Amino acid sequence: MAIRAARSWISGIVFLVGVAVVVSVSAVAFRDMHRDRPIYPGPGVTRVGMLSAYLGGLAGTGLDTEVYYLEGQTPGATVLVLGGTHPNEPAAFLAAVLLVENAVVERGRLIVIPRANRSGFTCTDPGEGHPQVYEIPTSGGPREFTFGSRATNPVHQWPDPVVYVNRLGQQLTGSEVRNLNRSYPGSPTGYPTEQLGHAITELIRAESPALSIDLHEASPEYPVINAIVAHPRALGLAVEAAMLLELDGMNISVEVSPVSLRGLSHREWGDNTDTLALLLETSNPAQGRLRGRTDAALVLTGQDKFYVRAGERNALYVRFTDRGWPLEERVGRHLQALVSLVEVYSAQHGQTPLVVQGVPHLRELRRDGLGAFLQRPR
Ligand SMILES: [Zn+2]
Repeated sequence: MAIRAARSWISGIVFLVGVAVVVSVSAVAFRDMHRDRPIYPGPGVTRVGMLSAYLGGLAGTGLDTEVYYLEGQTPGATVLVLGGTHPNEPAAFLAAVLLVENAVVERGRLIVIPRANRSGFTCTDPGEGHPQVYEIPTSGGPREFTFGSRATNPVHQWPDPVVYVNRLGQQLTGSEVRNLNRSYPGSPTGYPTEQLGHAITELIRAESPALSIDLHEASPEYPVINAIVAHPRALGLAVEAAMLLELDGMNISVEVSPVSLRGLSHREWGDNTDTLALLLETSNPAQGRLRGRTDAALVLTGQDKFYVRAGERNALYVRFTDRGWPLEERVGRHLQALVSLVEVYSAQHGQTPLVVQGVPHLRELRRDGLGAFLQRPR
């Protein structure tokens, strides 16, 4: 009897120690996601501020985020660029990082928010199996970044309603209450993600960017892919930029922002401010439903054998070969489209252009890789 009791005590203690080990390891990994991976301001950055300058209530919360200002010597147009609206779309985030670390403005002003939904960089989406981090090699060692979630971390906004009815009456599934790109124009007293949307709208009202460009990615089976989505007032600009890109060998389609889909950047920035609102999409297999093994290699190479098969059956909206959609290709497409939009705008507004140098070209990114344009880790 005594031996049996001792055995059950020992197995109970072993079980509790096992639980403690698993919980401790998970807790360390969980906490580590909340550490901002550094972005190093390049030679063109003249000022770094926080978004809470436009809505004081964001200060000290997990949703406040850095705003990088790259100001030229002479006045010209202001252009706003957002990366990381959806932190599970790494090319959108890294294109913004490359602007901060490389671009130099001669005329006008560039305002860049690389982690638009900073909270979303602190967790991954449940059930997706995404890696928490990925590394990009540079000449001075690897740079690590977090692969985040599509939405605000529930630690910063909880619980979700069953149905989310946004400020404009659009009915959405409850979890969309944490999706920044359904929360515009936002509200100063609404859900935290709506406050974030409001702060960005207030930034646009205060800084009056001529163009505002929201960078995104989508899965290869999503119809709006390798595209510029334009508010009706920005449609002419988008079409002309797409023609320039085609002449340079880069295929891109133009879609007009739908009237019936409310709360999105390309619709609400355009309807509620004077800016020309645009959104760019590239093809991200790590987001797709058809993908196989999901790891850091998929994030970097964009190669997946199941997508190759789907491409052979014409089930996708992009060409998909063994080459996949590497991260540097997607970042290069974003930067190339952005430069084209700026060039067309500047040609149309000769008195107030944005003249910017140092933005890596798609061909340079294909040849040298992303690491060649990221600063060495300090
Ligand atoms: Zn997106």
